[in-house]
Amino acid sequence: MPVEIKNLSHVYSEGSPFEFQALKDIDITIEDGSFVGIIGHTGSGKSTLIQHLNGLLTPTSGTVLVDGEDIFSKKKNELIQLRHHIGLVFQYPEHQLFEETVHKDVAFGPKNQGLSEDEINQRVQQSIKMVGLNYDDVKDKSPFELSGGQMRRVAIAGVLAMEPSVLILDEPTAGLDPRGREEILAQIKYLHKKKKMTVILVSHSMEDIGRLVEKILVMNAGEVVFYDSPNRVFTEIETLERIGLAVPEVTYLMRKLKEKYPEIREDIFTVAAAKDEILKVIRG
Ligand code: ADP
Ligand code: MG
Repeated sequence: MPVEIKNLSHVYSEGSPFEFQALKDIDITIEDGSFVGIIGHTGSGKSTLIQHLNGLLTPTSGTVLVDGEDIFSKKKNELIQLRHHIGLVFQYPEHQLFEETVHKDVAFGPKNQGLSEDEINQRVQQSIKMVGLNYDDVKDKSPFELSGGQMRRVAIAGVLAMEPSVLILDEPTAGLDPRGREEILAQIKYLHKKKKMTVILVSHSMEDIGRLVEKILVMNAGEVVFYDSPNRVFTEIETLERIGLAVPEVTYLMRKLKEKYPEIREDIFTVAAAKDEILKVIRG
């Protein structure tokens, strides 16, 4: 499902002394089946933006079209239907786990979709497996007995169980150790590749974004700074630094190497690509 964001602005607490414009005229399209990364300094409007995509927040002006339909012209029950297609995993989603068992927690969404008992069970098992957990090991546990990384996965499984066409994740690796982060990112990559899911990933890490996504949306103070391929975005080092961001470490290294090897490519942002390019240049 393509998601078109049309001249979207959002003002919090409009008309009060706390009025704050968090989004200014955002106008971009997220193509069906694409993998988009959103990056920007804290407070740049990332979370505000994604909460408009399933109708949790209402625009002050502008709108969002999903599959060509204006989601804010919908009636309330249609909006609830829409939320099943646009899966939103909040930041620290494990704070929203609340059932006594992992099974029940993951079943919550599909239950609300009115599916049959059999179908619910099948979805729960599948999605728990999809996030790399063993269903039989965890199904009867309380979510609160699990490790932080496991809780995060259960929360993601709860969204996957609704089989969304678009999966939006707000900093899904925040606070996890490197191994937990890798595993979650690998699962997300898998869902995008194998299930052709449209994925929108909000992340702090230029490294992660650089090696995963097809397109990066860079935000600053509620506005779009860039919406382009990692290749293009990572050559804009000066602009990125001005808005408090950095390119991946390895891109800085390539830039440094260019002083010695003028022919070396700078538009490189993964260690693997850097290795290939360096070997190519030094071997002549
Ligand atoms: P990000 O996710 O990029 O860190 P947010 O979308 O959470 O940014 O916030 C964007 C701006 O809007 C911030 O300055 C934040 O303080 C402000 N903001 C967020 N939520 C509210 C709210 N409920 N009321 C008022 N201001 C808010
Ligand atoms: Mg945020």
